Amino acid sequence: MSLTALLEVPELEARYKKVKKFFFLRESAYDVTSACQLRCDGCYYFAGERSAVRDNRDPARWRAFLEGEKGRGITYVNLAGAEPALRPEVLRACHQTIPLGTVFTNGLKKIDADIRYRIHISVWGDATGDPKYRRYASGKEGPYCLPLQLENYKNDDRVIFVYTFNNENMEQVDEVLRLVHDAGHQITFNVFSVPERHGSMLKLKDTLARTREKMLEAIERYPETVVYSPYNATVHTEELSLRGQFGCPYPRAALTEAKGFGIGKTFRNYRADLTSDADSCCIPHTDCADCRHYAAGSAIVTARLDLHTQAESRFRGWLDYVDTYLAIWILGYQKDKNLYRGA
Ligand code: SF4
Ligand code: SF4
Repeated sequence: MSLTALLEVPELEARYKKVKKFFFLRESAYDVTSACQLRCDGCYYFAGERSAVRDNRDPARWRAFLEGEKGRGITYVNLAGAEPALRPEVLRACHQTIPLGTVFTNGLKKIDADIRYRIHISVWGDATGDPKYRRYASGKEGPYCLPLQLENYKNDDRVIFVYTFNNENMEQVDEVLRLVHDAGHQITFNVFSVPERHGSMLKLKDTLARTREKMLEAIERYPETVVYSPYNATVHTEELSLRGQFGCPYPRAALTEAKGFGIGKTFRNYRADLTSDADSCCIPHTDCADCRHYAAGSAIVTARLDLHTQAESRFRGWLDYVDTYLAIWILGYQKDKNLYRGA
C-alpha cells in the first residue's frame, strides 16, 4: 500500500499528523562524566574504554561546545554516561544552550528542578534483584534503588521510569509496577542488550516470550501508568535483534549497511572529554546481534516508515511506536490509545 492510501483512514491520518510535527528533531548523545556510584551488571559504559577519559567539568566549555552542536543542526541532546546527576553545573549549561533533551540517570541523586529535561530513571529489578544486578562501585551489594528514586522524584513531571527486562527479572516487574503506579508516575520498558565480548548472565535466552507476555499484561493492567504499546512489545522481543529486523541507521552500523537511512549523517556520541569517534551509536559497545535497547529502537524503528507501509496493520504498529517514543522522550507530550490490533 502507499502512504497516501493509508492516510485515507481518518484515525491514521490524525495520528500521523500528530507525530509528524516532531520530525524536525535531530539528536546526538553526550557522556557527561565517567563517575557513577554503581557498577551494574552489563553496563555498556564501563564495558569499553569510554570511562577512561578525563571529564570536562567546565560549564562554559560545554556551553560553547553545544553552540557548535546547534550549528551542526542538533536540536535534541541525550545526556548519559556514566551518572550525569553528579555534574549539575554541566547539565544546567547544556539546558541553557539546547533545551530539548533527556538525562539518563540511576535516580540516586536528584537533578535540580530548573533543569527541565525529560529524565529517564533506570530500574533493574525489585528488592531482591536490584542489589544483585546493581552493585556499588566498591563491589559491595548495591541499594534497592526504587524507593530512593521515588523519594527523590516525588511529584516530578520530568520523570519516566525505565524498567530493563533481563533474563531473570520478568516476574519482579510486578512489584515495580505497583510502586510506580501508587506513586503516580509512569514507566516504560527496555530489554537488556549485552555488551560485545561480555558474558552477562542477564542476557535474555529463552525468556523473550515470557518478557513479551509480561509487557502485554502490564499495558493491559496499568493503561495510565505504562507508556508502551503491543507493537513495541512485539519488535523488542523477537528472536531477531532490532538491527536484524530493520537495519540500523547509526554511524557505527551505517559503515556496513548496504544503504544509509535516518540519522546516520548527523548523529554523534561524545565522550565526557568532548571527543567522538566516527563509528558511534547511542549504545556503544553493545552487541548489534543482541540489540533490543529502547533508545536504539527509537531511531531504528522510527526511521523505517518504508518497511511499515506494506499493510495497514504494520502502519498502525509504526504509528503506535512513534507516539510511544515521543511520549517517552518529549516532556509534556501525551500518548494516545494504541491503534495496532495485531498482525
Ligand atoms: S547506573 Fe548507569 S552508568 Fe552507572 S553502572 Fe549502572 S548502568 Fe552504568
Ligand atoms: S548496538 Fe544497536 S544501535 Fe548500536 S549500531 Fe548496533 S544495532 Fe545499531
